[in-house]
Amino acid sequence: LGPTITVGEILVEIMATTVGTGFIEPQSLAGPYPSGAPAIFIDQVARMGGAAGIIAGVGDDDFGRLNVDRLRHDGVDVSAIAIHEDWPTGSAFVRYRPNGARDFVFNIARSAAGQVGLTSAAEALVRRAGHVHVMGTALTIPGARKVILFAVETVQARGGSVSLDPNLRKELLTDDGALDSFNQVLATADLLLPSGDELFTAAGRADEAAAVAKLLESGIGEIVLKRGEHGASFFGRGLPRIDCPAFTVDEVDPTGAGDCFGAAYLTCRRKGMAPDAALLHANAAGARNVTRLGPMEGVSTLAELTTFIAETPRR
Ligand code: ADP
Repeated sequence: LGPTITVGEILVEIMATTVGTGFIEPQSLAGPYPSGAPAIFIDQVARMGGAAGIIAGVGDDDFGRLNVDRLRHDGVDVSAIAIHEDWPTGSAFVRYRPNGARDFVFNIARSAAGQVGLTSAAEALVRRAGHVHVMGTALTIPGARKVILFAVETVQARGGSVSLDPNLRKELLTDDGALDSFNQVLATADLLLPSGDELFTAAGRADEAAAVAKLLESGIGEIVLKRGEHGASFFGRGLPRIDCPAFTVDEVDPTGAGDCFGAAYLTCRRKGMAPDAALLHANAAGARNVTRLGPMEGVSTLAELTTFIAETPRR
């Protein structure tokens, strides 16, 4: 029907290379790496051979070029990435705590990433898209939110589909608009890709079975629950549940795993694969991604996933 598109933040990511307890103490950093959840997602779609485009903004600077060059090289349609002369490319700093948790310092609102809007190039991309993937992080950007709601409506009106990755980071939730638009997208989404507690938040239920049942009843066709190093599960309306254990890998950097996972699942499904095969490829894409430092450094081609699946033991 048309390419998979997404809307939202493109960032450079700079991360601590050692575990620490605060940002205020000097620490070793790695980066800049191309990043932003929507950018990682769409890059993974394109690397697997899916038609892919992104509506976003970067500054007229090296951080912007780092991202746009990578996306273009990997096959993403970059025609709707606005280059802003007056705003710098957005950034994210990531710190890892001793218990494995991550903290983020985002610079999105006062960057080019905060300026996403419906340009003529963005509208043209929306009008030829066949699928919209919505990232919760992007719903926290007011301009992006409007583009997302327009894209969801337009693409659904022409028979396309919608997926939603809740990914609502507490650091980014500044107003009610994000949650309101999140609920609007949730009400019409075909595929939901929550991780951890996001399932409970989306459903308003604290029990997994009850949350899944409520969301499937409300009209979502498929729910794929990401469980980190415990793999993932598929729930479909009228279909048996499928559990897929994780592949055994050495985790170097967890950032981006969920984005690669979602992109691989969606791309496999859009290519006509059954849910169990799509789930296996998605697990492989998530696992491969965590073995590399940098959120977008571990994206996979379909051939790389096939080899990885054949060679890697599962937990
Ligand atoms: P998110 O990044 O959205 O929080 P997860 O951390 O659950 O998502 O990771 C997404 C998927 O990536 C998991 O469902 C799993 O398939 C894979 N994955 C993540 N971490 C690991 C790991 N340490 N080992 C193997 N696979 C992993």
